[in-house]
Amino acid sequence: MHEYDSLSEDVICTLAAAAGEDNVAMVEPMSQHTTFKIGGPADVLVTPETPEALVKVLDTCAIAGVPVTIVGNGSDLLVGDRGIRGVVVLLRENYAHIALDGTRITAEAGALLRDVALVAADAGLTGMEALSGIPATVGGACFMNAGAYDTCTADVLESVTVYVPGGPDEGAARLRGTVKTLGRDELGMGYRKSRVAVEGLIVISATFSLSPGNAAMIRADMDTYQQRREEKQPLELPSAGSTFKRPEGYFAGKLIMDAGLAGARVGGAEVSTKHCGFVVNTGGATAADVCALIEHVQDTVREKFGVELEPEVRRIGEF
Ligand SMILES: Cc1cc2nc3c(=O)[nH]c(=O)nc-3n(C[C@H](O)[C@H](O)[C@H](O)COP(=O)(O)OP(=O)(O)OC[C@H]3O[C@@H](n4cnc5c(N)ncnc54)[C@H](O)[C@@H]3O)c2cc1C
Repeated sequence: MHEYDSLSEDVICTLAAAAGEDNVAMVEPMSQHTTFKIGGPADVLVTPETPEALVKVLDTCAIAGVPVTIVGNGSDLLVGDRGIRGVVVLLRENYAHIALDGTRITAEAGALLRDVALVAADAGLTGMEALSGIPATVGGACFMNAGAYDTCTADVLESVTVYVPGGPDEGAARLRGTVKTLGRDELGMGYRKSRVAVEGLIVISATFSLSPGNAAMIRADMDTYQQRREEKQPLELPSAGSTFKRPEGYFAGKLIMDAGLAGARVGGAEVSTKHCGFVVNTGGATAADVCALIEHVQDTVREKFGVELEPEVRRIGEF
């Protein structure tokens, strides 16, 4: 396969035919598509509206040898200041259909967990309350096995329909992907891990299996979880959630606070004074600012406590 250089007019036309002309944007700033509000431009951003369009877009990129990056709500991402080469496929609000069928809910990958949880609550179905405050899409939640308050995505997942990328470099037929539905037991879900992430599968949609409950209690529980988040987390400023994974036997936020790093800054990036586990964008922070602050926090915590902090935020693109 040739090294990717730039997208040809032909490929851009094929993408526009697959996804619709209005759903293809050139040189699109990723700062508009991440919760950190940081990130340089994607060469091309495509927002397919149907599973068929999504598969065509992915096949087109595979055949043309164009790198693809999937982005959901961008709530776990630090995109480099120089942006992302190739095609970013953004799966969000125009790929977010949710369908209720008895105690099951099937949602397209771009639906927010919150919106799935609201449909469940309206139908008096319990199981998603603790997940409802995670600002994830269904696709991102399956990729990360996102979780909170002792519940994770796998707990309520029944199956996931995925695009499995084709084999490398053996002609167009092999490069095309296939679509498969995998049951929960086939998804290799563990603590913040999944077969989706390990094998580079692309989530098209997911089905959740819930239990009948009391609608008023479900809504009250969702409100309580949201209140706990608002009290503890700096939700008023852009961030990508917890910056570091929890080191065994410790809490990242407490270590950072005890190291005297609350409020530490590089440029517009700051260790939140409300919750030291979060790096926040106080305005105009660059990816370089965030990386430098992450390094400063890692160095200081290593020096003071001998603990290695590993970033949880995923860095993508060129820095
Ligand atoms: C304020 C705040 C609070 C948070 N709280 C929590 C929490 O309590 N628990 C928790 O687990 N996380 C939390 N997070 C982190 C984040 O919400 C999760 O990691 C979430 O799963 C990311 O989903 P996303 O749709 O934003 O994915 P993105 O950030 O867009 O992408 C994350 C990864 O998933 C991949 N991906 C996205 N969609 C698909 C798809 N359709 N198919 C295949 N791969 C895909 C991307 O390529 C990328 O590698 C929080 C973040 C913020 C900003």
